[in-house]
Amino acid sequence: MVAPFRDSETFSVTVSEDHELFRRSVREFLERDVMPYVEKGEREGTIPEEVLQSINQMGLTGISIPKEYGGQGGDMLSTVILTEEITRVWPSLAARLGIVSLFSIPILLHGTEEQKKRYIPPVAKGEKTPALANTEPTGGSDVAGMKSLAKRINDHYVINGRKIFITNGGIADYYVVTARTSPPGDKRWKGISMFIVEREMPGVKVVGRIETMGLKSSNTAELAFEEVKVPAENLIGEEGMGFMYAMETFDGSRPGVAAQGLGVAQAAVEKMASYAIQRSAFDAPLISYQMVQEKIAESLTEISAARLLTYWAATLHDKGRKDEAIIASSMAKYFATEVAEKIVLRAISIHGGYGVTTSTGVERLLRDIEIMKIYEGANDIQKLVIIRETARRLLGIKM
Ligand SMILES: Cc1cc2nc3c(=O)[nH]c(=O)nc-3n(C[C@H](O)[C@H](O)[C@H](O)COP(=O)(O)OP(=O)(O)OC[C@H]3O[C@@H](n4cnc5c(N)ncnc54)[C@H](O)[C@@H]3O)c2cc1C
Repeated sequence: MVAPFRDSETFSVTVSEDHELFRRSVREFLERDVMPYVEKGEREGTIPEEVLQSINQMGLTGISIPKEYGGQGGDMLSTVILTEEITRVWPSLAARLGIVSLFSIPILLHGTEEQKKRYIPPVAKGEKTPALANTEPTGGSDVAGMKSLAKRINDHYVINGRKIFITNGGIADYYVVTARTSPPGDKRWKGISMFIVEREMPGVKVVGRIETMGLKSSNTAELAFEEVKVPAENLIGEEGMGFMYAMETFDGSRPGVAAQGLGVAQAAVEKMASYAIQRSAFDAPLISYQMVQEKIAESLTEISAARLLTYWAATLHDKGRKDEAIIASSMAKYFATEVAEKIVLRAISIHGGYGVTTSTGVERLLRDIEIMKIYEGANDIQKLVIIRETARRLLGIKM
C-alpha cells in the first residue's frame, strides 16, 4: 500500500490523444469566439447571450451529462480539460457552467427517471439555467448545521429558509435546494433532504445580487424561500439523506474547481513569460535576470504538479475508484487553487506597476482565485476531508 492509496498503480493518469485533440479544438474556439467578450462582460457583470449560445452550439454546456439526458457523455477528464481551458480564458464563465454538474450530480445519482427526463436535458442543452442552493447565512462549511426547513404536508413539502452566495442564484430557472425535514437524530447530518425547486414556484425570492471581489460576471445571489410549496415528487432520493447527497455532489465537482485553479495558473504563467520576454529593464529583457527566471521555473513546476494531481483525481473518478477519488479530489482542489494564487502573485510582481492595473488582466486573476479557494468547500475543509478519509481507510477510525 502506498498510504493512503492501494498501490503504485493508483497513481496512473490516463490521458488519450482524443483528450488532447479536444483541448486543442476547445482552445481555438474559446480564443476566437469567447475571448473578445471577456473585458466588457467583466465590466458589466454579465456573460452575453451570444457567448452562451456559441458554447451550447459546440455542445460544451452538458459535457459531463450522459447522452440519454441531452449531454455529451464525456468522462471526468474531458470535463476537467474543458474547465481548465474555459477558465484560462474567462473564469466567470467556468463558474457559471460548473453549476451544470453541481445541479445534475444529485439528480443523476438519486433522482427518479421522471426528474432526470424533466430537469436534466434543458440544463445540459443550456436552455435552462441551474443553481445549487446549499450555503446559508449562518454557515457554509457546516452543512449539517443548516437552518432551512421543509415540512411535509400531504402531497407536498413547504420550504422556508435563506440561502446565500448562490452562483447563478439570480438568473436560475431550477434550483437544487437542501433543507431539514426532521431534527438531527443520533448524527448531526441526519434529517436533511434535497429538493428540486423551480424559480416560478410562489415564494422563491431573489433577495439580491452579492457583489464579490472577483468572478464579476458570475451572478452570485442571496435567496429566500418563503412558504414554497414543492410537490413531493420533487424530493431527490430518500428523505433525510440530503447531507450525504450534498457531500457526494461536492466529491464529484471538486476536480472541476481544481481545474479552475489550473486555468487561472495557466493564464498567469503565459502572461508572466511573455511579459518577461518583451519587457526590458537596465537594457536587457526581464527574462535574462535569474530572479525572474526563478519565478517562471517555480511556476512551471508547480502548475505541472497541480495538473498531474487534478488529472489523476479525474482518472480515479473515471475508473470508479470512489474512496481514493475523494481524497485525490480534495488534494487537487486545495493544491491547484493555492498554487494558482502563488503563480498569479509572481505574475503581478513580474509585471511591475502594470501588474496592478486593470488593463493587463493579471490582477483580475488574483481576485478570481481567492473565490476558488473558498467555494465548494474552503481549502481548510479539503484538508479535513483528506485527513478524515485517510484515517478511515488506514486506521478504521472516524475523526
Ligand atoms: C462567489 C461564491 C460562490 C458560491 N457559490 C455557491 C453555490 O453555488 N452554492 C452554494 O451552496 N454555496 C456557494 N458558495 C458558498 C461557499 O461554498 C461557502 O462560502 C464555503 O463553503 C464556506 O462557507 P462560509 O462562507 O459560510 O464560511 P464558514 O463556514 O463560516 O467558514 C469560515 C472559515 O472558517 C474555516 N472553517 C470552518 N470550519 C472549520 C473547521 N472545522 N476547521 C478548520 N477551519 C474551518 C473555513 O475554512 C473558512 O476559512 C459560494 C461562495 C462564494 C464566495
